Amino acid sequence: MTRASEFAGRLAVVTGGGRGIGKAIAQGLAQRGAQVHVFDREAATDMSPRCTHHKVDVSRLEDVENAMRSLPAKPTLLVNNAGITRDRSLLKMDADEWHAVISVNLTGAFNMIRAAAPLMIAEGSGRIVNISSINGLRGKFGQGNYAAAKAGLIGLTKTAARELGPKGITVNAVAPGMVTTDMTLALPEEFRQRALDEAVLAELPAPEDVAEAVIFLLSDGARRITGQVLKVDSGQYI
Ligand code: NDP
Repeated sequence: MTRASEFAGRLAVVTGGGRGIGKAIAQGLAQRGAQVHVFDREAATDMSPRCTHHKVDVSRLEDVENAMRSLPAKPTLLVNNAGITRDRSLLKMDADEWHAVISVNLTGAFNMIRAAAPLMIAEGSGRIVNISSINGLRGKFGQGNYAAAKAGLIGLTKTAARELGPKGITVNAVAPGMVTTDMTLALPEEFRQRALDEAVLAELPAPEDVAEAVIFLLSDGARRITGQVLKVDSGQYI
C-alpha cells in the first residue's frame, strides 16, 4: 500500500474543512486517497478534486442529517473540527456568546456523531476524531465558553469510545495548542508570543502538524487506540 492509496475507497467527513486546520486535514486525507466530504458554512476554493463541499451549520441537527443523507456512501471516517471563539472574561460574557460557542463546538460534534455513528455501525467500522484544545484541559482566561466546550468534547470522546468501541468504532481527540490560522490571527500578537514562550519546541504547530496526528488516529495503525487525547502543542502544556 502506498501513501497515496492509504484511504482509497474510504469516505471521510470533515467539519469546518474550508480553512485552517480542517482544510489541512481534508487535503491530507484526499492526498491519501479518501473521498472527503467537507461540512462547512462556506465552500473553500483550491481544494483537491477529491473534496466535496456541503453547506452545513453543524449546530443545526437538521442540516447535519440532510447532508449525511446526501452522501454517496456510508462514512467510515469523521473529524469534528468546526469551531468558533467568542472570547470574553466570565464577568462580561453574555448568554449569546456562551451559547454560540457551546452550540458549534460541542453540540455540533454531538449532532455529527449522532448522525454518523449508525452509518458506521452498519459498515462495521469507523474512526472518529474530535478536535479539542489544550485550553479544554487547563482553562484559559477569557475562554470560559470555549474551554467548557473543549473539555466537554473530551467527555463526549471518552463516552463515545466506550459506547461505540464494541461496535468497531474508535473515538479519540486531538488537543492542539496555538496554531497559526484565521482563528488565532484574530488575536493580539502578544497572545501568540506568550504561546511561543510557553512552548518547549522552537516553533508552534502548523495546521499540517495537527492534520498528521488526526490522520494517524484515523489510520489502521491506530486501530487499538481509543478514548485518548493527543496534544499537538510543541510542548506548550506538558
Ligand atoms: P478557523 O476559524 O480557521 O476555521 C474554522 C472552520 O470551521 C471554518 O471553515 C468555519 O467556517 C468552520 N465553521 C465555523 N462554524 C461552523 C459551523 N457552525 N458549521 C460548520 N462549519 C463551521 O479555525 P481553526 O482552523 O483555527 O480551528 C479548527 C479547530 O481547531 C477548531 O475546533 C478550533 O477550536 C480548534 N483549535 C484551534 C487552535 C488554533 O490555535 N487555531 C488551537 C486549539 C484548537 P466559516 O468559514 O464559515 O467561518
